[in-house]
Amino acid sequence: MTARPALIDGFGRTVTYLRVSVTDRCDLRCVYCMSEKMVFLPKAEVLSLEELDRISSAFIGLGVRKLRLSGGEPLVRKGFMTLVESLSRHLKSGALDEITLTTNGTRLAEFATDLARLGVRRVNVSIDTLKPDLFRTLTRGGDLAKVIAGTEAALAAGMAVKINAVALARDNAAEIPQLIQWAHGRGMDITLIEAMPLGEIEADRTDQFLSLETVRRELASYWTLTDLPLNTGGPARYVRVEETGGRLGLITPMSHNFCEACNRVRVTCTGTLHTCLGRDDAADLRAVLRAGGGDADLVAVIRQAVDAKPQGHDFQIGRGQTPAVARHMSTTGG
Ligand code: SAM
Ligand code: SF4
Repeated sequence: MTARPALIDGFGRTVTYLRVSVTDRCDLRCVYCMSEKMVFLPKAEVLSLEELDRISSAFIGLGVRKLRLSGGEPLVRKGFMTLVESLSRHLKSGALDEITLTTNGTRLAEFATDLARLGVRRVNVSIDTLKPDLFRTLTRGGDLAKVIAGTEAALAAGMAVKINAVALARDNAAEIPQLIQWAHGRGMDITLIEAMPLGEIEADRTDQFLSLETVRRELASYWTLTDLPLNTGGPARYVRVEETGGRLGLITPMSHNFCEACNRVRVTCTGTLHTCLGRDDAADLRAVLRAGGGDADLVAVIRQAVDAKPQGHDFQIGRGQTPAVARHMSTTGG
């Protein structure tokens, strides 16, 4: 493939990171992510494995170096490993630096060895609590033991594992230091995430919201937190916890403006390109493919959308407010 000019938006930011949601389905129903009775998309609306590959490959041809596969739950998507195998050609050719995965971990033990074999060197696993009963409540039925077995299998296969935990004022606030110690004790990084107002759920988000500035202040009252210069172009800021020797990420979309260095875009499982997680801007890539469009048509639509990438998001959490963005995180991909 001949080299194409990079994807640069209207504010001079280069897009090098693509997140793709491969399915909106999931075997869990986390309370902050989904409603109890989620209605999933009809299969015909969801991109086929070939369409997912074509769209991802178009972005890679435009200079994307890092691909994160997410969902819903990527490991419940039928044929997911076939997709990874196919996309791994871009790792072999050197066009892509990495393929990573964000997973709830329930099926990770099954797939860890194959993922590592295909060149996936890092996975993010979401665990909000180490209390089996609370885990079952928060995920509406999940089995913590399976997820922990998944992390162990991934580590044993040689992958780096990062734990993602959403900070929830009522549910896991008091447990955050233990979660950090647990992750660091096993050689895993951990990132805390502020709950974002994405999609209608049963709970009132005002009750769940916990500012990570508050969490950081509290942790800093008994631990030494050293800022790390690591900048991934995303909303995470990193510190080293000197007492545990491990790395802690803080994703603060609500309380910190990170948009000026944003290098990423997202494609949903229906082929909608969102150039900002917190806005409703959308370009329909599936329509291009299903109208028989060629790669040049796809590239033209991608370029136009990236050119119009908004300068920043406008999240707000207030009592009784409807979500800033109606789509759920499971549609967009975390
Ligand atoms: N199912 C996979 C998982 O749970 O890791 C991947 C998809 S999930 C949508 C990606 C990440 O988004 C998870 O770490 C999850 O905790 C987080 N997440 C989901 N809904 C969220 C919300 N409303 N605010 C902040 N994080 C959220
Ligand atoms: Fe499923 Fe992940 Fe959403 Fe939980 S956070 S319901 S595991 S998609």
